Amino acid sequence: MLLKATVTTKGAVLLGKHVACDAFDETRPIRVVTHAHSDHMLGLRQSLKQCEAVVMTPATKDLIDAMKGPRFLLRGNVKTLDYGEAFAYEDEQLTLHYADHILGTAQVLVEDGEKTRILYTSDFKISRTPVVAADVLVLEATYGNPYRVRPFGIMAEGILVSLVEQGLKRGPVYVFGYHGKLQEIMQILYEAKVKVPFIVPEKIFQVSKVCERHGMRFGRRLLLSREEKAQSILCQREPCIIFYHTHSRKKVGKEALRVYASGWQFVKPCQKIGEDEYRVALSGHSDFNELLQYVERCRPKMVITDNHRFGDAFVLAREIEKRLNIPARPVPS
Ligand SMILES: [Zn+2]
Repeated sequence: MLLKATVTTKGAVLLGKHVACDAFDETRPIRVVTHAHSDHMLGLRQSLKQCEAVVMTPATKDLIDAMKGPRFLLRGNVKTLDYGEAFAYEDEQLTLHYADHILGTAQVLVEDGEKTRILYTSDFKISRTPVVAADVLVLEATYGNPYRVRPFGIMAEGILVSLVEQGLKRGPVYVFGYHGKLQEIMQILYEAKVKVPFIVPEKIFQVSKVCERHGMRFGRRLLLSREEKAQSILCQREPCIIFYHTHSRKKVGKEALRVYASGWQFVKPCQKIGEDEYRVALSGHSDFNELLQYVERCRPKMVITDNHRFGDAFVLAREIEKRLNIPARPVPS
């Protein structure tokens, strides 16, 4: 069973005999990109050059086109697969299943010639992610430690909205987060009827447009920061929300209220971390209890916890064995 799935030291999640997910592996003709976060696009250039097919959902393809330019994926044979659509390679069958994380994210199921079901969850929040039954499960381990729980659930969303509303009374508000997360926040603010312009730099603008094309709603508030209209709003310090990637957090918006969406905020849904800066607990990952819930409902015969990406794969494997009595191990060890 163990031989049917593993995680390499380069971060490739190998399923069955032919598939490598989320990093390049020279022995595998099929590469899957589960979603457009950088730790899941490892060695993509090499996969495009060497693999027979690079598989992803149409939304993930559009996001990568927006982030890396439309010519990047043209280097290889990209095969887009809708959720539930089957792709056969020799005696194995591959399907992608919805995962609630960023737009386009997929769980990957390989059924081999012996009818063994081998599943990789990739990153997911449990709320809207369907559990896929499997014999061998490769599980993300970001919050693999029993301390990593968020008992306050979606309360953080309400706090985010009221923080932003308070800030807007004084002028512009800055919001920082990762691609995907920023667009989720835009949608939360739109649904809460926060009616000010959303001003964004080029790349976030392109990613947001892809999200709109795939059904997310921001209500025509998006303005590209270099446009004249946006520049005038910024100069006048009129109320608006300016979105930036987390990496720019130290560089911009020092003079305004700053809200930082973080997956590493536990205990409390919101924490004041500076003069005018707040960290709000908004995560795209299942917490520890939710990871266990997934395993319980999936009923695998064995579990591999992803020990390449950031998290607590060792502890998670130990707790799965102890609490659910299912053999589990962190890989690579
Ligand atoms: Zn991710």
